[in-house]
Amino acid sequence: MAVDLHTHSSISDGSDTPTELVAKASQAGLTAVALTDHDTVEGLAEAAEAATVTDIKLIRGVELSVAWVRGGLHMVVLFLPEEGALLDKLAWLQTSRAARNERMVSRLVDLGYQVTLDEVRSEAGDGVIGRPHIAAVLVAKGYVADIPSAFDQLLAAGKPAYVGRDRLEPIEAIRLARQGRAVPIIAHPHTMGLDTADEYAAAFTELAEAGLIGLECHYGDYPPERRREFIEMADRFGLLPSGGSDYHGTYKAGLEIGVGRGDLVVPDHVLDDLEAAR
Ligand code: AMP
Ligand code: FE
Ligand code: FE
Ligand code: ZN
Repeated sequence: MAVDLHTHSSISDGSDTPTELVAKASQAGLTAVALTDHDTVEGLAEAAEAATVTDIKLIRGVELSVAWVRGGLHMVVLFLPEEGALLDKLAWLQTSRAARNERMVSRLVDLGYQVTLDEVRSEAGDGVIGRPHIAAVLVAKGYVADIPSAFDQLLAAGKPAYVGRDRLEPIEAIRLARQGRAVPIIAHPHTMGLDTADEYAAAFTELAEAGLIGLECHYGDYPPERRREFIEMADRFGLLPSGGSDYHGTYKAGLEIGVGRGDLVVPDHVLDDLEAAR
């Protein structure tokens, strides 16, 4: 019996609606699936509703992009409560993201690109609006050849239309999660920009002391030896292994729900252990 503790729906940057995602997870024979959209909980109510007509258990989750100078630190938080300080912080992050989108659009206008927030909004549909949607509008209007060029020329960090966004500090995110009896987990640890065993040790020691519970070791995109490496590290720093596919539907081709590239298995007890550590 297996679970998938890291997936994305169309509410962030996946292609399946929360309902479709839960149905797929159920058809794949999983006993539980966590919906972990980027910085938003907007899909969770629909996912929970969809789960009621199946045997699958829906775990309320979110994937936070937290502040980290070395690289990208993503934190998957599972067993999210319905309300509380972390949920308030997430609402604040959404407000701040909306203000940031306005500033990026007005920078583009100042630079001579005729784009409007309405065009960006309709590009995003139901989902959280961000730079990929601004990029898509620039492509549609013929200003740039494709999305990567939009980033290279205008939207990447340091480029003329880029505006940074507010993020939680990792220790604050951990504290808020634990306060709400949720389970904070470092997602795909390889993106943290750490090179040596000492660097990993320093980071994991600090975060474990702050109350971090899990480390995503069974990751869709990792070969078996990478998974083993991170399981050993989790052990060493008193963290529990977590796992998931990071499924994004057609937006990350070849990465399937539950099985990742085909060889992923996240056993049931991984979820049980994480739940017991709350
Ligand atoms: P935002 O959340 O608005 O900062 O946008 C972040 C998203 O933009 C990421 O999830 C990526 O999908 C996308 N992105 C970031 N950098 C690039 C890039 N250089 N080329 C294409 N897409 C990118
Ligand atoms: Fe994503
Ligand atoms: Fe991520
Ligand atoms: Zn993800």
